[in-house]
Amino acid sequence: MIALLGSTGSIGQNTLKICRRFGIKIEALVAGNNIGLLNKQIEEFKPEYVAVANSKDVSKINHNRVYSGESGILELLEKCKSPLVVNALVGFAGLKPTVKTLELGKRLALANKESLVAAGKFIDCSKITPIDSEHFGLWYLINSRKINKLYITASGGAFRDWEIEAIKNANFKDALNHPNWSMGNKITIDSASMVNKLFELLEAKWLFDTADIDAYIERSSTIHALVEFADGSTVAHISRTDMKLPIAYAVLNEVKEQILEPVDLTKLRCLEFKEIDTARYPVWQIKEHLLNNPDMGAVLNAANEAAILRFESGEFGFFKMADLILQSYKKFEGIKINSLNDIFETDKEVREFVKSLK
Ligand code: NDP
Repeated sequence: MIALLGSTGSIGQNTLKICRRFGIKIEALVAGNNIGLLNKQIEEFKPEYVAVANSKDVSKINHNRVYSGESGILELLEKCKSPLVVNALVGFAGLKPTVKTLELGKRLALANKESLVAAGKFIDCSKITPIDSEHFGLWYLINSRKINKLYITASGGAFRDWEIEAIKNANFKDALNHPNWSMGNKITIDSASMVNKLFELLEAKWLFDTADIDAYIERSSTIHALVEFADGSTVAHISRTDMKLPIAYAVLNEVKEQILEPVDLTKLRCLEFKEIDTARYPVWQIKEHLLNNPDMGAVLNAANEAAILRFESGEFGFFKMADLILQSYKKFEGIKINSLNDIFETDKEVREFVKSLK
């Protein structure tokens, strides 16, 4: 039995496919604005509890135990008996449910990487199974041998082949055109800017307790992660671009059946690893600093979310987002985070700062 937060999203819908196939009961469904799809999910999975983002939508839900808003999600978690919560909410809104799940002593299958980016320092990763293909790949590869370094891969996102001059003025729709994966809007934008890969490095730092980690562009997204061992050998994780594999491992006690079609090796063309270029991906210049100063994750996350909102509204072209993020990063450099409360305060301040930038 599981509670699923973000059931109408890309990860949420894939989670329900795994639950449908393996007969896992859904105790709770949480969604934002997609009420039509939520009602269909309620009809099929018959959850005990439901929550939605806005109180105005409660009356539209075909269920008699519907909570709403941030506090409603936390209340729903308190009611749930499920030992496992899947957090597939998007953005900073996922942090409080992450904290609450762990406070309640439940296991957490975590797709909401923003929780770890903003607050990894205060999260007990021993209770977490990550739903992220790169971290799943790393977990799959790591064995008892001594490790030298971890690597994750990036597709390069929507603008990997664009002329750099043209990227400057690219709009929101252009940025949603991901070459390899079908995902929610925010993570698709984060992939185009390479913020997603910064997030994943930080996520890996908390999950695997190392800053010896880097990312390269591998265009086909066939290889998701690599581990370089102290003996000089490197192993790679290869699978299709489909989140059902990490989800299956996160929600099933044991994976005995085939989840994905294996990759046909004879169809693989050239596999190439390229360094991430800061001219095309300006945010990449903060990588080392971020890994060595993980308190800055809260700043990066807030600046990114605030910059995406302005970009989505059509105020400016794609590169301006990186500019706002880097200005915010510089402004708040050196910030010390001593409590979860500091994170919520910092988040507010950074968002205000991004709004004020010209
Ligand atoms: P989507 O945007 O597709 O889905 C987000 C989900 O959260 C939706 O169900 C949405 O509801 C719900 N939601 C958003 N805000 C609220 C709120 N305030 N209250 C309640 N529900 C809310 O995102 P993804 O599924 O792509 O991503 C989810 C998380 O997983 C992100 O953190 C992402 O980085 C991570 N991730 C995603 C991957 C992917 O392949 N998609 C891969 C690896 C990680 P609604 O749609 O009804 O408004």
